[in-house]
Amino acid sequence: MAKLYFRYGAMNSGKSTALLQAAFNYEERGQHVLLAKPEIDTKGADQISSRLGVERKVDFLIGPEDDARALFAEHRRRVQFEADAALVPDTRTDVACLLIDEAQFLVPDQIDDLLRIAVNDGIPVLAYGIRTDFQTRAFPGSARLMELAHSLEELKTICRCGSKALFNARLVGGRFVFDGDQVAIDELSADRVTYESMCARCYLRESGGRLR
Ligand SMILES: [Zn+2]
Repeated sequence: MAKLYFRYGAMNSGKSTALLQAAFNYEERGQHVLLAKPEIDTKGADQISSRLGVERKVDFLIGPEDDARALFAEHRRRVQFEADAALVPDTRTDVACLLIDEAQFLVPDQIDDLLRIAVNDGIPVLAYGIRTDFQTRAFPGSARLMELAHSLEELKTICRCGSKALFNARLVGGRFVFDGDQVAIDELSADRVTYESMCARCYLRESGGRLR
């Protein structure tokens, strides 16, 4: 049975790099994959960009109101049709895997759809995302993935002190802030918003003991 996988980590834990590597591994074996991401992520619009410099356009974006399973089915049919049109006598003419970047920004209903795609449609789904926001709260999409995924895998990155990073502290204009909207990725903002992946000890030191 196909499964739903959630590979999560703090920011800068190489999630997009791991996703693009997974896509490459499938394609190296002559298999087809579909790449998607939520529309909310404005940095890079319809691209998946890894910090190592590799970039790739997604096959489709998922808007907040979209039926993720119907969108997937539509693009799956396209892959099947193109393979048929090429008259390739090959059994591998279906989608082998659906890869989702920034999965924390999907709404819970869409995560439910990812489970249906895996279980009912028989296509493995690999979702990559951040577990918690800058106030240490789970993103709604990540919380639902924690509940539903067959398999959870943590992608690790290091805090400034050398410990494993757990949280994502937000900086505005280079200063830590602990209040604000859950999503702030507007790069046009005058006070540029950045994030630092931190261990719990360093986060608590910067926040003065505050968690949310
Ligand atoms: Zn630390």
